[in-house]
Amino acid sequence: MSAKPVTYTRNVFIPVTNMCRNNCAYCGFRRDIGSGEDYLMPPADAKALIAKAAGMGCTEALFTYGDAPQDPRFRERVRAIGYPSLTAYVHDLSLYAISLGVMPHTNAGVLPAEELRDLADLNASMGLMLETTAKRLPAHSLSPLKDPEVRIRFIEEAGRLHMPFTTGILVGIGETWQDRKESLEAIGDIHRKYDHIQEVIVQNFVPKPYIRMANVEPPTPADMVRVIRMARDILPDDVSLQAPPNLTDHLDEFLDAGAEDIGGISPVTQDYINPECAWPSLDALKAKGLRLRERLPVYPKYVKRGWYGKMVKPLIEKYADGEGYRA
Ligand code: SF4
Repeated sequence: MSAKPVTYTRNVFIPVTNMCRNNCAYCGFRRDIGSGEDYLMPPADAKALIAKAAGMGCTEALFTYGDAPQDPRFRERVRAIGYPSLTAYVHDLSLYAISLGVMPHTNAGVLPAEELRDLADLNASMGLMLETTAKRLPAHSLSPLKDPEVRIRFIEEAGRLHMPFTTGILVGIGETWQDRKESLEAIGDIHRKYDHIQEVIVQNFVPKPYIRMANVEPPTPADMVRVIRMARDILPDDVSLQAPPNLTDHLDEFLDAGAEDIGGISPVTQDYINPECAWPSLDALKAKGLRLRERLPVYPKYVKRGWYGKMVKPLIEKYADGEGYRA
């Protein structure tokens, strides 16, 4: 087991809606509008989760959902809960989180530039998985916003706003080893240009019986070790590598290969994207020998520069010690 410190955030996971304009073949989260399993989280429910998280010492509210559908029925659903747009709803939830001492980190798919700017003011950091630079993957044949050029443009736009950013690759969705290398190189290039990529998630595809890719073999642990080593070689040293701890039994090998962060661990909510994969408890991770260190949703380098949304400044000043971590 790695002796180096492993960082994490204490967060609450808020899947605002499971309706999405894309339809990725590996996704078990998305539901069709009108399917009966679709939802838009009611404001009272979302706020109750945030309040519970605040009471449990969480510093991060992870607002995660796919790309907002263009279907008029979706817009009507959003209007019915009192908001002109999904972004306006998340804006309101973000203000509520900040008022309770919890910093937003929004991963909302590809947003129009003005909506990105609006939410950037309220976020400690934001995220969007690049997933892969491979074009025309069968897994993305029904997902117009999984065009890698569209996603790279969005990540660059966040860089122009000096918004610390989490991105990553999804391993095992039909891409080749060359695609993996090129995806990591593309992220490295963006970071060298805008200097805002704080962490890169190296995430393994996990098959589920109810997805279109149910019978696709996932990457092996050895594949993941190889791709994490590749990421460490390709990415600049100041970009942290994150391995989700609930998607593997081989976390110790991934940490030894170069991962140093395990992302959000929530004492409040499950991983709604992979509900069958429970987050390990902090005690269980410590019992495995991990030297855990809690961090804020914005990395120390960006705390020092003042690169975060202006609305979270009082919280950063409250929580960050000299290194940007909680004391
Ligand atoms: S993976 Fe994300 S973008 Fe793709 S269908 Fe699921 S929610 Fe939408």
